[in-house]
Amino acid sequence: MSANKKALVTGGTRGIGRAIVKEFAADSDYSHIAFVYASSDERAKELVEELKPTGKEILPYKTDASSFEQVQQTVTDAVGKMGGLDVLVNNAGITRDNLLLRMSEQDFDDVIKVNLKSVFNFTKAVLRTMIKQRYGRIINISSVVGIIGNPGQANYVASKAGVIGFTKSLARELASRNITANAVAPGYISTDMTDKLTDEQRDALVKNIPLGRVGDPQDVAKVVRFLCSNAADYITGQVITVDGGLTM
Ligand code: NAP
Repeated sequence: MSANKKALVTGGTRGIGRAIVKEFAADSDYSHIAFVYASSDERAKELVEELKPTGKEILPYKTDASSFEQVQQTVTDAVGKMGGLDVLVNNAGITRDNLLLRMSEQDFDDVIKVNLKSVFNFTKAVLRTMIKQRYGRIINISSVVGIIGNPGQANYVASKAGVIGFTKSLARELASRNITANAVAPGYISTDMTDKLTDEQRDALVKNIPLGRVGDPQDVAKVVRFLCSNAADYITGQVITVDGGLTM
């Protein structure tokens, strides 16, 4: 499968998700790209406008990724309008950081719902279509902290480790249907999610990154594009770390 690909990206309005939408839009293999966001209507409109010159069908959906019902409706509509779905990128995510002693039940539940349950919601909603097509590429955005842990992020780390386990099970369940599932684990990427750090904290972090800089959203988007391309047809169940060498 190499032309007229249809993709759906969650969390497409900002940061890594936005870079992934743009990466697909710049790739001649893709004809339709749907993206999902929570509340940034203006950013969604801007992105659609920005990508108009590509001539591709860009479909924005305001959908709470943690809601099973909303996701079912969105996927049904998007698959109908695009005429199928080849690529799903589960990227939407939030943080509600706190030391465990101070972490509320709400903060734990919200992070698990948006970061992990959303992956179940979208994957389940697209599966029948991909199985029928006998083709699918599913990419789940995890995090390096899902592998190594992080103080103050027990909820987030649990969700991201969960995403890795989910991805591997999915890869095993669906390999015979020509559907691959891989996780991408970014390190420190410059987005709204990470802009809360002070310059000092940022400098200290960069000192530990062998490649000597924080990542850009495009650093992750390029790997996602590769994993969805024919060049990655024999890769499934993997966790690809994109962290400038931070956790090697
Ligand atoms: P970001 O800049 O904060 O953007 C988050 C995106 O997710 C936005 O498009 C947001 O939509 C959407 N979103 C949030 N909650 C949602 C919900 N309930 N339903 C639908 N969409 C929702 O985040 P980012 O830094 O690009 O991170 C993207 C992914 O990479 C996340 O899964 C994150 O955990 C992971 N990651 C990031 C880093 C990093 O350093 N940045 C490192 C490792 C992993 P709105 O614009 O409408 O709010």
